[in-house]
Amino acid sequence: MKTYKTVAGLRRNLAKEMAKGKTIGFVPTMGALHQGHMSLIKLAVQENDITVCSVFVNPTQFNEKEDLDKYPRTLERDAEMLKENGCHYLFAPGPKAVYPDGAEKSVDLDISALTQHMEGPNRPGHFEGVVQVVHRLLEIVEPDQLYMGQKDFQQFSIIAHMLKTLQMKTKLRVCPIIREADGLAMSSRNVRLKPSIRKRSTILYEALTYIKDNIHKKSPKTLEKKGLEMVSIADFKPEYLKIVDGYTLEPIKDSKDHSYIVACTAVWAGEVRLIDNMILVG
Ligand code: AMP
Repeated sequence: MKTYKTVAGLRRNLAKEMAKGKTIGFVPTMGALHQGHMSLIKLAVQENDITVCSVFVNPTQFNEKEDLDKYPRTLERDAEMLKENGCHYLFAPGPKAVYPDGAEKSVDLDISALTQHMEGPNRPGHFEGVVQVVHRLLEIVEPDQLYMGQKDFQQFSIIAHMLKTLQMKTKLRVCPIIREADGLAMSSRNVRLKPSIRKRSTILYEALTYIKDNIHKKSPKTLEKKGLEMVSIADFKPEYLKIVDGYTLEPIKDSKDHSYIVACTAVWAGEVRLIDNMILVG
């Protein structure tokens, strides 16, 4: 595996691969890699000639400086894991390489319809930052296929909207959520959970599972209320728990009226913000 910190270095080599007609799969990450990320890498390796992974902690998608500062950075270990899983190129740039003209310029794309609920109101500017960085990384890598996780449901929905609206050539592949044995969704932030809180963080998975088991038995409103109660244990503070249409991300009134339904939640577990979701129907 080759590692590049500059755009020019990566581009030179990718151009050679493209000239040979090789297909390129791309997995953008913020590093502190775990088996969730590796599931994307493995699929990309399986489906493409060349797999590129980026590790870039993108400042423009953090709305709290403290969260950005505390974000775990483990580049050497990340590189080892990527190599073991067959990744060909690691792109690990700094902000200047990604944003040579400054980070202010953003992509001209209306994402307002998809950011009305859930993460949108709770993390102002977050998705604008995500769109900006993914767009920029796609310009650099020009992949045939882009691999993202269902873990960030609203994120991949917005990127799917971007690819479609801007008629970009890249195809999006979404991979299921990889969980720890006890149900907690893997996340780079999990290492920051205090042991007593970590043990009880399974409550998100339990609440989502309860909702899935009851989606056709109780109303979405009742299930949201019950789910919020379930995750409101000591040291845990829910930001939202919503049952939404998987296409529009709009809250639903009756499960019978929708063919694709997902429950999404964000909960503060002590000082760590956890997100999780579960596809209920579809
Ligand atoms: P991040 O480094 O958190 O920005 O995540 C990079 C990519 O990995 C995103 O597309 C995430 O949705 C995906 N991802 C993160 N956690 C998981 C997980 N537990 N299972 C599957 N994919 C994941």
